[in-house]
Amino acid sequence: MRTDPDAPKHRGISFLILDKNSPGITIRPLIDMSWRHHFNEVFFEDVRVPATNLVGEENRGWYVGMTLLDFERSNITGAISSRRSINSLLDYIATEDGAAKADLRPSVRAEIAERYIETEVMFNFSFRIISMQAANQIPNYEASTSKLFNSELSQSLSRTGSKVFGLHAGLWEDGDGRAPLNGRFTKSYVQAVPATIAAGTSEIQRNIIATRGLGLPRG
Ligand SMILES: Cc1cc2nc3c(=O)[nH]c(=O)nc-3n(C[C@H](O)[C@H](O)[C@H](O)COP(=O)(O)OP(=O)(O)OC[C@H]3O[C@@H](n4cnc5c(N)ncnc54)[C@H](O)[C@@H]3O)c2cc1C
Repeated sequence: MRTDPDAPKHRGISFLILDKNSPGITIRPLIDMSWRHHFNEVFFEDVRVPATNLVGEENRGWYVGMTLLDFERSNITGAISSRRSINSLLDYIATEDGAAKADLRPSVRAEIAERYIETEVMFNFSFRIISMQAANQIPNYEASTSKLFNSELSQSLSRTGSKVFGLHAGLWEDGDGRAPLNGRFTKSYVQAVPATIAAGTSEIQRNIIATRGLGLPRG
């Protein structure tokens, strides 16, 4: 919250942790376009938070928030989920059912190979971040690189995985035995849409990489 209205915009903000059961908080579920409920809209009305819940120094909350994002964007697990996705695709294509449903034209094969290479690249970004964190360093543009790369990879993996199964990819109801991999790639096609928005959009990550990573002047 803003604690010094006269300070420049990045100063005068403080970071407080609050109990979500505090009086005045209303939580309304948001259902996403794949019919899942995994986040909400939260309203605050005259909510009071003890000043002892302050994180870090008063009026330096912006820097607390930015450091938090450096860790959120590190997203080391992203490499693992991408590898699991590509491996599940390869394993399924190797089965009789998968082989019968897969369209493996040369252009589709090339796409799968591209995704495989990108997944390996993603692992190297994660290893770099793990090394930095293990050395008590805070990854900044490195975390943005990893966040940008993996969120775009999650979308392209979903597109490739759906493309492999052609019209079969239109089936994604749970329990529909005809849906390849229980509709895994069709579901992630829809669910990965916000990946390039949440935790900072791809444009914001590119700005951070350009300015803090490459030292380019602000546009
Ligand atoms: C699924 C999901 C989960 C989320 N979870 C959380 C959460 O747990 N906690 C939380 O605090 N927030 C959360 N968010 C909010 C998220 O952090 C913001 O939506 C995101 O940072 C984008 O901010 P904005 O929506 O205000 O868009 P804006 O900042 O208004 O951006 C709109 C568009 O303008 C572009 N843009 C903005 N500024 C620039 C610039 N300087 N240069 C170039 N392009 C620019 C953006 O890239 C974007 O395309 C979540 C969002 C989603 C979709």
